[in-house]
This record gives sequence, structure tokens and C-alpha cells, in this order.
Amino acid sequence: MEGITDSALYKNTVRTMETAGRFIKLSPSCIERLRTPRRALIVSVPVRMDDDSIKVFPGYRVQHNQTLGPFKGGIRYHESVTLSEVAALASLMTYKNSLLGLPLGGAKGGVQVDPSTISIKENEALTRKFTSEISPFIGPDRDIPAPDVGTSSQTMAWMLDQYSTESGFSQTGVVTGKPVEIGGSAGRDAATGLGVVYTIEKALAARDKKIANTTIAIQGFGKVGLHAAIEAHALGAKIVAVSDVSNALYQPEGLNVPELVQYYNQNRKLTGYHGGKIISNDELLALDVDVLAPCALDGTINSHNVDAIKANIIVEGANGPVTANANEILTAKNIMIVPDILANGGGVVVSYFEWVQDISWLFWDEQNVRERLRTIMYRSFDKVHEFSTQNSVDMRTAAMAVALHRLEGAMRLRGQIW
Ligand code: NAD
Repeated sequence: MEGITDSALYKNTVRTMETAGRFIKLSPSCIERLRTPRRALIVSVPVRMDDDSIKVFPGYRVQHNQTLGPFKGGIRYHESVTLSEVAALASLMTYKNSLLGLPLGGAKGGVQVDPSTISIKENEALTRKFTSEISPFIGPDRDIPAPDVGTSSQTMAWMLDQYSTESGFSQTGVVTGKPVEIGGSAGRDAATGLGVVYTIEKALAARDKKIANTTIAIQGFGKVGLHAAIEAHALGAKIVAVSDVSNALYQPEGLNVPELVQYYNQNRKLTGYHGGKIISNDELLALDVDVLAPCALDGTINSHNVDAIKANIIVEGANGPVTANANEILTAKNIMIVPDILANGGGVVVSYFEWVQDISWLFWDEQNVRERLRTIMYRSFDKVHEFSTQNSVDMRTAAMAVALHRLEGAMRLRGQIW
């Protein structure tokens, strides 16, 4: 499919799927079907800007596979969004949902826009137009978007409102990650970061360590990185470095996370906070820490900087932060990499809880959400780790193998493959 297979992330994802597929002797027809998405939608999103000019932004929704249930996946607003990147992320959602045992398929969407350069009014107009354009393909039983890089619970609230207006009645189940006041789930904001921390606990335990007093560096201080820092700090870990797009902060004794979070919430950037030494994002990645959690963008650990990595465990909070080449080199050095489809699965698990709560109109308290999330994250980690040790393969191949095994069974039962 032209335009779909171009990006490095797409090629990496297919390569991981094929490697794991060969390992578990996946049916060739299954591999062939999973190589390309089921459907890819390209839309133009015209926006009347505040100065009365018009700008047209390219938008995408890619639906990869819906064998296990409705399509599910986030919406990204970023200037580098491409059809191929969205397609790769859609396929990762298919594998993630399968691995986590959820009754959901995989999709992803995005608009090629730098959200920091548009006003709130322009952002709302863009979101409403994008929603309208993709509305024939989404819905509570079809495809359920959620926030991702550059989008938020406010974005989901506008999507919900636009979709409901066009349907003629309130459809809270059409998106997840929305504010609690309009059908969101308790605990959704922290879910991905909390899930990252549950997998950090498990990865450390697999190496006979506990999270208290371990040193952790986190790249990215957005929806994932910030909550990973809060939750790991609450369990006694030392968060020695964090970063955002502007720069990184380093404090070998451990940053004062509550103070830092308060500063960040007031200023929306790390620059200007004086509780740590300023270092570059590259220096953060090279710190000698127990755990490195890249929680920003894909491809940040690659063949150029892989030799500098000193962490014993890498937990992929972001999607695709370690390239396939870097993965091979790090695995050969016995560095454990907890792959994205496992490590950042907490977000979609609680999105699934939110969808279930919306459908049943019965809402759970935060403690209940956190306990159910922990059960799924621990169980998924154990399955992957067991496969990895029993078959002497790295955690990425193991996670993909577990995901593909379930998916293949379902596809075969439905007569999609043979
Ligand atoms: P976000 O937009 O809330 O935050 C991204 C963070 O990364 C920001 O702090 C930003 O400053 C930082 N950043 C951007 N470019 C950077 C760079 N070049 N170097 C260092 N930092 C940089 O996004 P998010 O929702 O936290 O998502 C982060 C990653 O996690 C993405 O890969 C996303 O697909 C993945 N993810 C998110 C969720 C979720 O629930 N939000 C779930 C699963 C996976």
C-alpha cells in the first residue's frame, strides 16, 4: 500500500512481527494479513484561523485489525505525523490489545499540526472538523479514539461533543480519555504512567531487585512521563533525571518530584526549575541508572547513541523509542527492554475500563481501577517474561509472540486465515 510502508517505525514494527511470527511458526496467511492495515483514511482538515486566513491540515485514521473487537487507538497532533507513522502505531495497538487480553482491535489517528502554534479556538475548530471527517468510520461499537501526543482530555471532550451533535444524541462511548465529568474513568490520567511503573516493578523483580531506592531516568514529561515519575517516586524510587522537549534535569540524589510537578503544572515546561542540573536529552539517555524510561517519541535510542546507554533495564513508555538495530545491540549486552506494547499498555487498559463503564453507565472508584490495572499489567508481564525465559528470546519478540498467538487463534476461528 503506497505511502503506508515508508517510515522506519513501520518497517521496524513489521520486522518485529515477522521475527516473532517465524519463531512461533505463525501461519504465512496470518503474517501476510497483518503486514498491512485493513483501512486507511486520509482527510483534509480546513481551519479558519484567528486572522481569518484558512489553513488545511492533513489528517489520518488508520484501522489495522478488528478481529478481537472494535478498533481502538489514540489521536496524535504533531508536525511530523505521517500516514506511515500512524499506520505503524495502529498495528502496535492491534498487538498491544491482543497481548493485554482486551476485546479490542488496533487503530491510530493523527493530524499533521504543531499544537503549540495554534490557539485554543483554532485547536477546537480543527478537532471538530477532523472528527466530522472521520465520523463515518468511528463510533462506540466501531472505532474508539483516545488522547496521544499533543492531544488531551479536552480534545476528547470536543470529539465527543461533535460526534454526539452529528448523531443527535449523547454518545459518551465514542472516545476514551475524556474528563470524568462527561463519562471519563477515574484514574485514566495516571494510567499509562502507572502501568509503566507496574512493569518497572516486575522487571526489577525479575532481576532480584526492588523499586525502593532504585535510580530511574525518564525522558519526556507529558502524560506518560510525568505520571510515571509521580508513581515511581511514591514507591520510593529515586527519579534522578527527567526531560521535556526543551532540556533535561539531573539530580543524582533524586529530584523532589512533588515540587517539580507543581512547578511543571504552573509553567508547562521544565525550563526555569532550579532543583536539578540542566543536561541535554542525549546526556539523560546515557546516565548510569538502574532503569531508563523513554516516554517521549519514537526512535530516540538508535544506532547513533546506543553505545552510550548504561541502564540495566529500559522500559518503553513511548511507542517505538528503541529502534530494531539498537534493540539487538542492547539485548546482546543483557539489557532488559520491556517493549512498548507491554510497558505502555496501562493507558489502553484503563481506556477499556472507561468504555465498559460508559456502556454500562456504572462507574468505579479510582482504587478499583488501579487494582484491576495492576492485575492485568502484572499478568501480562509474567506471560511475556515466561515466554522470554523459556524460549531464550528477548522481551520484544516474546511480547509479540504472545500477542500473535492469541490473534492467530481468533483469526483462524473467524475464517480469516488458514
Ligand atoms: P505528551 O505530548 O503528553 O508528552 C510528550 C513529552 O515528550 C513532552 O514532555 C514533550 O516535551 C516531550 N518531548 C517531545 N519531543 C521530545 C524530544 N525530542 N526529546 C525529549 N522530550 C521530548 O505525550 P504522551 O501522551 O506522554 O505520549 C508520549 C509517548 O507515549 C508517545 O510515544 C505516545 O504514543 C506514547 N503513549 C502514550 C499513551 C497515553 O496514554 N498518553 C499511551 C500509550 C503510549
